[in-house]
Amino acid sequence: MSYAHPTRGNTRKPFGFNRNLLPIPAEYYHEQGLKLFGGGEWKNAICPFHDDTKPSLRVRLDTGGYRCMVCGAHGGDVLAFHMKRHSLRFIEAAKALDAWEVER
Ligand SMILES: [Zn+2]
Repeated sequence: MSYAHPTRGNTRKPFGFNRNLLPIPAEYYHEQGLKLFGGGEWKNAICPFHDDTKPSLRVRLDTGGYRCMVCGAHGGDVLAFHMKRHSLRFIEAAKALDAWEVER
């Protein structure tokens, strides 16, 4: 006699944060008004998190990660950037970026 397995994640559609729905970093940062300089893997931009006069912010276009060499602001993706820039919580930022799937 075998035990029956409890029913888990059966028919419910997935909802919540979906990383695949995040905007493409290059398009996102452009839309946020950042001018990206440089031709390498890391782009430079004027940092929006402090009173920047020369491009101190480094942005990775593959992951969307960013780091400021002056004020130390940093994050791993465009979601982290959006949360910090607009003072949003995780879920609010995910929804603002259309990366939050709702149950239908
Ligand atoms: Zn900065």
